[in-house]
Amino acid sequence: MMFSNIVILTGAGISAESGLQTFRASDGLWEGHRVEDVATPEAFARNPALVHQFYDARRERLGEVEPNAAHVALARLDAEWPGELLIVTQNVDDLHERAGAQRLLHMHGELTSGWCLGCNARFGWSEAMGEAAQCPACETVGRVRPDIVWFGEMPYQMERIEAALMDADLFVSIGTSGAVYPAAGFVQTAAYCGAHTLEINLEPSQGSMFFAERRCGLAGEEVPKWVGEVLGYSDHSSPISL
Ligand SMILES: [Zn+2]
Repeated sequence: MMFSNIVILTGAGISAESGLQTFRASDGLWEGHRVEDVATPEAFARNPALVHQFYDARRERLGEVEPNAAHVALARLDAEWPGELLIVTQNVDDLHERAGAQRLLHMHGELTSGWCLGCNARFGWSEAMGEAAQCPACETVGRVRPDIVWFGEMPYQMERIEAALMDADLFVSIGTSGAVYPAAGFVQTAAYCGAHTLEINLEPSQGSMFFAERRCGLAGEEVPKWVGEVLGYSDHSSPISL
């Protein structure tokens, strides 16, 4: 198969293999919290202390985990692939960038970013945020929120993602449930526009039937294998061994 333009979507499954727990649709709980109590704009308006506490804990946890073999393989693909490539992640952790990925877009925001509701600035944030956080741009206290796309909010950079999907020759979905829109619809957009589509997941996702090709297994095993194939198939001058 010949292709040059790759779009990759990654979801909770790839981070779970590094030990990061995420929202579980099965019981509707996230670290014991209901989503509507910690991951909605209404929750933040009602109880900012609880929401900050929740995300501060998530941010702190980043320091205890490492990128896994799947993150490393995708970073390698990013570095080696001579064609177009975009990694769209639903994850708010920083494991892709810590592995070295650069052509990366966080559609649901980032734990390591803050957003000031006073002046609309966004900025890197690595410590606890809390209600006393001061905006580094306008110096207002108490109006900084996690730069996270909460339930009911619009994911980031949808126009750029749509454009990339329409241009893609290959769309790969890794570790996603296929249950959360708009990401769950990416495969249909890419396929409609002529891309080959591949799902790599622990088990067939809810949207499995939309993919032309499916591989079941751990991302940490299946992704390095797939990346090796892709780099081997390309006419790149120095394909690397994995
Ligand atoms: Zn500000």
